[in-house]
Amino acid sequence: MLEIFERCWKSISVGPRVYEAPTQVSASQKSCTAVCKRLLSGALWLSLAIFVIPTFAADDGVTAFVGATIIDATDREPLINGVVVVEGPRIVAVGPSGQVKVPAGGRVVDARGKWIVPGLIDAHVHFFQSGSLYTRPDIIDLRRIRPYLEEIAWIRQRIPQTLARYLASGVTSVADVAGPRWTFEVREQAQLQSTAPRVALSGPGLAPLMPREWVTEDPPMTAVASPEQARVAVRNLLEAQPDLLKIWFPLFRGMDLEQEMRWVKVAIDESHAHNLRVGVHATQLALARRMVEAGADILVHSVDDELLDEDFLRLLKARGVIYIPTLVVREGYQEVLGNNVTLSAIERQVGDPQAIATFGDLRRWYPEWPQGRVRGPGAVMLKNLKRLHDYGITVAAGSDAGNIGTLHGPALHRELELMARAGLTPHEVLITATRGGARLLGRESELGTIEVGKLADFLILDANPLEDIRNTHRIHRVVKDGVLFDPDEILNELQRNRP
Ligand SMILES: [Zn+2]
Repeated sequence: MLEIFERCWKSISVGPRVYEAPTQVSASQKSCTAVCKRLLSGALWLSLAIFVIPTFAADDGVTAFVGATIIDATDREPLINGVVVVEGPRIVAVGPSGQVKVPAGGRVVDARGKWIVPGLIDAHVHFFQSGSLYTRPDIIDLRRIRPYLEEIAWIRQRIPQTLARYLASGVTSVADVAGPRWTFEVREQAQLQSTAPRVALSGPGLAPLMPREWVTEDPPMTAVASPEQARVAVRNLLEAQPDLLKIWFPLFRGMDLEQEMRWVKVAIDESHAHNLRVGVHATQLALARRMVEAGADILVHSVDDELLDEDFLRLLKARGVIYIPTLVVREGYQEVLGNNVTLSAIERQVGDPQAIATFGDLRRWYPEWPQGRVRGPGAVMLKNLKRLHDYGITVAAGSDAGNIGTLHGPALHRELELMARAGLTPHEVLITATRGGARLLGRESELGTIEVGKLADFLILDANPLEDIRNTHRIHRVVKDGVLFDPDEILNELQRNRP
């Protein structure tokens, strides 16, 4: 069993080494239907139903949220019995109940006995992956059971509800760090749909090679072999106005690193020349150091092979690099591929039921498939997170949602729990998922804290997240752009519109 984990995990962290499933299920082979091909041929899903959820506040009026303890994600102490006043999409006043006036004619939302925190930001997701067992054929190849094009068509069809699941999870912004060109349409969809988080994204990442299982007309990566190809690849993306550039750089056997670094440097310089920051997948310390020296702005995963040294910490700080630990994704793979899935209440309630339904399929197709231990993030990852956080380096919470077992929306809450396991206090964890995320998005002036002038993205919680970070699960209401949502209503609507 350990060997399966090792092989599967190696392929995640080191590079594509396909785990071939046994062949006896070939009788179940399916082919991509006509509908699926039609879906793939264009932006058909954009015309699919957009969820209309009744809103309970906002529009252009004034709404005061009165009586809650406000944890604003600045360095200030929580404000007990506070008031947040929202006008249109923005916060216009914050302060103690006695001092902030509720404007005449304004609506009042009674938030006594509740806690208000900024909307959560997931700094690392992938909309081209569903979280299902079939979503990473480069890691476990089950294309005989579900062809990859079919999986992609299904994912695209469900984008409106995937977006809604984020909002119902209290996630008001996300960054998609690598996906096919069609993911740019997800950003458009998120602007059209009220029940959606803000979406920033990179589009196709640049990579030293692309797993053959990902080869489609619109792959999530562009294979690059020379500085000239890197320059062209970056320029080809500019028209779509990406929010950042992604370089996916797993180490492959036989790779000539010096040779590869030549194009990496050009890709970073070309991106910077167009005011694009660059996020890099580099999970080994030596490689991450090279990437940061070459100008990388964001490390999208933990360094997991060695403890970070003082020189590297100093370098990260001097360059203002943002670090996204993505602790939960390994656990998701271990649970599903190890036939040992435990779902939290918020995963069961908000996670995509069709993705969850695939978690039991390994045992269905292969009754002899063994059960494995779920070890979660390695000790090196946890120690590195604590170390660099203490050093003052910006951390942005990100789940890597979309990978097998990592569910769009609720996965971020588990990520926060694991960050607390690394030794961060609940308040520190909360800041990584709010202020840290806003910094990652390059929107600190508008998002990430509860302050006058910022966009009104916040959550009303039923329990104190500073006592236990898991209390972020207990979402009473979500406010995005000044519009108030009841998560249960969003989920009921999804249930009614079930495809
Ligand atoms: Zn990722």
